[in-house]
Amino acid sequence: MLTLREARRLPLAAEVDILVAGGGPAGVAAAFAAARRLRRTSPGDPRVLVVEQFNCLGGVATAGGHGHICLFSAWGDRRRVVGGIPWEIARRIVSAGYGVCTTSQADFEIEGMRKVLEEMAEESGVGLLYHTFCSDTVVSRGRVIGAVIQNKSGRQWIHAQRVVDATGDGDVAAHAGCAFSVGDEETGLCQPMTLMFTIGGVDWPKVNAWRTSYEMREVWEEAQRQGDMRPYQKVIMGFWWTPTRPDQVGVNFTHINGMNACRAEDLTRATIEGRKQVFETIQVFRKYVPDMAHCYLISTPPTIGIRESRRIHGRYPLRKGDLLAQQTFPDSIGYGSFFIDIHNTKGPGMDAKTWRPPPGFRYQIPYRIMVPAETEGLWVAGRCASCDHEALGSLRVMPQCGVMGEAAGTAAVVSLEENCRASEVPIERLQTMLRVQGAILDEAGIEAACRADEERREAVS
Ligand SMILES: Cc1cc2nc3c(=O)[nH]c(=O)nc-3n(C[C@H](O)[C@H](O)[C@H](O)COP(=O)(O)OP(=O)(O)OC[C@H]3O[C@@H](n4cnc5c(N)ncnc54)[C@H](O)[C@@H]3O)c2cc1C
Repeated sequence: MLTLREARRLPLAAEVDILVAGGGPAGVAAAFAAARRLRRTSPGDPRVLVVEQFNCLGGVATAGGHGHICLFSAWGDRRRVVGGIPWEIARRIVSAGYGVCTTSQADFEIEGMRKVLEEMAEESGVGLLYHTFCSDTVVSRGRVIGAVIQNKSGRQWIHAQRVVDATGDGDVAAHAGCAFSVGDEETGLCQPMTLMFTIGGVDWPKVNAWRTSYEMREVWEEAQRQGDMRPYQKVIMGFWWTPTRPDQVGVNFTHINGMNACRAEDLTRATIEGRKQVFETIQVFRKYVPDMAHCYLISTPPTIGIRESRRIHGRYPLRKGDLLAQQTFPDSIGYGSFFIDIHNTKGPGMDAKTWRPPPGFRYQIPYRIMVPAETEGLWVAGRCASCDHEALGSLRVMPQCGVMGEAAGTAAVVSLEENCRASEVPIERLQTMLRVQGAILDEAGIEAACRADEERREAVS
């Protein structure tokens, strides 16, 4: 943490209204929402800046190599419960010709997603600063007023009226001294990391048909019996195919346990181990899987996928019990609906804490999970929001991170306009603004989205 006095010794890189740290699903939604609102209400260009350590927007969806987003609908139901910017991104990727999407999920070409998000940033008036890491936080009288950044130009700082921490790991909040939890409350262990990979030379219709009719577990068991594979995984977590790349499939399979995403040493070890697993898995595909005999590695992504790290303590922690009760909240900013998806924290496969809900499952996400308990001027949106280990298993998926991001960016503007604290943002006003932006906050919103989707289907057929 730096004081204002300490920060002033550094070169000032920028002065902005809203600084968004991290350009993943939460960060882009926060930035687009904030810049669009400022553009409508304030003279001059919006001063909204995204600082991103990699060379693209999208987070896990791009830099993490994961070309699949779910769930926009209620669980086991095609009624959509997510609207607003996350849904707009899904529709945009389809209309740009880079993906396919149902009311539940979207599959897309990763390069296309990178381009579409940059176009949307430009249209919204969002400034981007890539290749830049938020390495510390500037705090004055208990209020976050900016971040220290590190890049090729050296160490500088950005002065901001309001800050949204969308780093996934809660880096800005942690540096500001916010309290946080990490991992399973009983063991302290986090969900495993996964290095995604993309393979080519796949006849998808054949592989897909085979995949649904074959007990894939036998492949791994046989490969391990033959000494062709170490026991790092035993379930395919996802084969993601998009029609724009007919012979390519993204594979969610590698599993690296026992790592801390906030330690560079662990990220390095996990990446090296992940790459070993990628090459091992491809050999197994070639040898044991019919129709994959000629598959080959196209790429591993720039960064390993992180499922879990810091969860910043907020004004309300979303708990597993809230999910099971399909809780509603007066400060709802949208819905979550994914199952409690917890990968084994100690080995291959899924964790015993995984929970598959009944059809129609959905729960409201309260605004307070994004407001740090003690620090002001800051929102935490996305994977680092306030919740317990099991709630995170559901809340962490991309549409919900986008829901949080859009609400955080909008709330940051409201707090500027009203000159109030994050915890004092008038909820009804925020909710009205979110509804105008197309967000779904309640049952009436779900009904309206259902009707709109039905009309769209009829117009297409
Ligand atoms: C292997 C894997 C499979 C998954 N499968 C699915 C799925 O099928 N469907 C689904 O919807 N979700 C899935 N998820 C979950 C989902 O992708 C993530 O939880 C979600 O992307 C989190 O969004 P976020 O914006 O909070 O964080 P991230 O996507 O992690 O984005 C954070 C961004 O911040 C940047 N950043 C981090 N720290 C700093 C810093 N200090 N300074 C500057 N920039 C920084 C990062 O580079 C990144 O771009 C999966 C996750 C993983 C890892």
